Amino acid sequence: MEFSLIAKHFTRATPGAVLGVGDDCALLAPTPGMQLAVSSDMLLEGRHFSPQDSPAGIGHKSLAVNLSDLAAMGATPRWATLAIALPEENDAWLTAFARGFFRLADLHGIELVGGDTTRGALTLSITVMGEVPPGQALRRDGAQAGDDIWVSGVLGSAALALAYRQGRLFMEQVDAARVLPALYLPTPRVALGIALRGIAHSAIDISDGLLADLGHILERSGVGARLEFGALPTLPVVQSYLHEAVARNCVLAGGDDYELCFTAPAGQRDAIQAAAASTNVMVSRIGQITAESGLSVIGTDGQPLTYDKTGYDHFAA
Ligand code: ADP
Ligand code: MG
Repeated sequence: MEFSLIAKHFTRATPGAVLGVGDDCALLAPTPGMQLAVSSDMLLEGRHFSPQDSPAGIGHKSLAVNLSDLAAMGATPRWATLAIALPEENDAWLTAFARGFFRLADLHGIELVGGDTTRGALTLSITVMGEVPPGQALRRDGAQAGDDIWVSGVLGSAALALAYRQGRLFMEQVDAARVLPALYLPTPRVALGIALRGIAHSAIDISDGLLADLGHILERSGVGARLEFGALPTLPVVQSYLHEAVARNCVLAGGDDYELCFTAPAGQRDAIQAAAASTNVMVSRIGQITAESGLSVIGTDGQPLTYDKTGYDHFAA
């Protein structure tokens, strides 16, 4: 597509790169001795966002979900590339999209160094690169029996907001305003991930729901887990707008939270609270890793809870 479009919307100073946008490749010089953490995430209109969504919000979220992957590895964000397919050249849309994208990029010191632009159904594919000291990445395969399980922030807000936006549930405006930012302006927990280097045994970001994503840690680490339902952090609005069973699925299996779930030995509890305090993120201890495989959720009465893994589809119930 026209080079002027790229020049106008996607070309910024890139002091952290040897060469940024404009040549056949970007040239990057990683910090000597660091490992590169690389991840891509694609967002499709109709699937990950709707045509009515604000373009600045889409710019924010498309980068936020990628930064969340770097956060989950404990990596420091450095560079990104952006491949974008657009049905037509829409200057106002691109201007707003770029505003949302670069606002978040600047917050995290990540530089856009290249990409591709083409005509097609609206699609955004971002690749992010970050750096992590050798051996310190927070991997999915490091959980050990006896580890505490922790989660950042609150769970279920984005799933509740989505149900509201889809008209499947009524909410007072003041309450909707409490959960909509979780859906449209998720905060990637980058600083927390970095602070957990050398402390956490394993980590993942929650994009598909706590149970599904914790399940990936369990599978890769060859362990099981026991969660205390009463310890799961959520906003009071989730309880007040949803029947008990639906609220439970929302917290356990609602998607799009972009919080970190991580495990660490009990001896690290103080270090974890200090990491949380220094990065201004709430963390909650929600259960324990077990040597036996399988995932159980214990209710406040001490009995195992039944739950449905399929999440937000069950708001209609
Ligand atoms: P080529 O045909 O050599 O792949 P392009 O014309 O596709 O080059 O892109 C020209 C330059 O603009 C390249 O440096 C590319 O990385 C960059 N670029 C293209 N699209 C984007 C975009 N959406 N965001 C950032 N950089 C882009
Ligand atoms: Mg190209």
